[in-house]
Amino acid sequence: MTTAPVRDARTVSIWDAAHAADARRPRSLQTRLGASDTICSRRAGYTLAGAERSNEGDKRAAILGTYIHRGLLEDARREYNWLVERTVADDLIRGHVDVVQLDAATASRLPKRHRPVEPAEVVTVEDVKTKSARVWDRVLRYGPTAAEMRQVLLYAGLLSTVGFSDMPGQRYLHRLGPIDVQRIRFRFVCRDTGEEHIQEFPFDEWSSFEARWWVERVVDAESVEELRRDFDGPGLSPVCDNCPFVKHCWPGVAPGKPAQTILVHDDADREKALAVYVRAHERYRVSSQVKKKVRAMLDDSPAGVYGENKLGWSGGNDKEEPDVQAMVDMFENADLTVPMVPDVPGMVNTLRRAGMAVPLRKAAGQTTARSISVTRAPSRP
Ligand code: SF4
Repeated sequence: MTTAPVRDARTVSIWDAAHAADARRPRSLQTRLGASDTICSRRAGYTLAGAERSNEGDKRAAILGTYIHRGLLEDARREYNWLVERTVADDLIRGHVDVVQLDAATASRLPKRHRPVEPAEVVTVEDVKTKSARVWDRVLRYGPTAAEMRQVLLYAGLLSTVGFSDMPGQRYLHRLGPIDVQRIRFRFVCRDTGEEHIQEFPFDEWSSFEARWWVERVVDAESVEELRRDFDGPGLSPVCDNCPFVKHCWPGVAPGKPAQTILVHDDADREKALAVYVRAHERYRVSSQVKKKVRAMLDDSPAGVYGENKLGWSGGNDKEEPDVQAMVDMFENADLTVPMVPDVPGMVNTLRRAGMAVPLRKAAGQTTARSISVTRAPSRP
């Protein structure tokens, strides 16, 4: 008798299920441009052209972000009756706005059960972004990227000119017509610590026209190749490393060579590249000298918050080294042969192989390197 092979739960990765579910999500299959596809001109062009997506990339962080995002929005909808994940579209672009906070006047035009628990001061279009701790300091300092800003401006622009889409589940919103959006808000959530950071901007109609113009340029392009690569390419940009169209975008790379080699065709290109290199090197040299000087100036400053920045120190601790006498005692207790000629690395290896902790002692007069850390100071309440 034969039995069907059983998939042992220990041998499958739970990520297989997550990737399969992600591949079925509308965003992974769409060929119409969504506001969230406006991260890179050329990538948007490939999406519109329906080009084959040949690079899966590492989607795990993005999938985790999607889970957190969905969970937070769903709970905010349930607890506060916020309008979440609502569709906006016109003939150029479509998308799902994370959150729309209606003011009291607009909310009063909705059936009671659809009104928010607390109306907003002014109509606000909100985008929730999850970020890793690695980029958190940059988020606190510089806020949304240009692409993130463009996405929200597109949503806010659609709401203020067209309103919510006419579709099942949100007809009561569509009946409101164009909405008087006054503010856009980014709500950043750190995936590692849960910290929340909010940044707001008044809604600017001209900036939303500019965002639309960006999309129109992509739609009007005669070929994808005439659209700008907005990132530096695989190996230099995580966006490109994980871009589904990376193979179309960087074709004909010689084996073992960086993808960026395809940007140089002749001596004129080499001349330009070298001039850029020299300018960048000079800026780097000047910046690096400034950093070295400031680092030296701060060397005896205590850690703490100074204005907008927080100074911290790590390292500078006593260095430790293997304690040879203690190792000899351990060898003798374990009936191991103590080498006649001191062999510290060999004894350390033997102890590690046996799963025993290597005894350490302070190395006389030696300390570990001391590193400076400068992060954005927490905002004052
Ligand atoms: S590989 Fe990079 S530059 Fe090319 S389309 Fe993708 S994101 Fe844009």
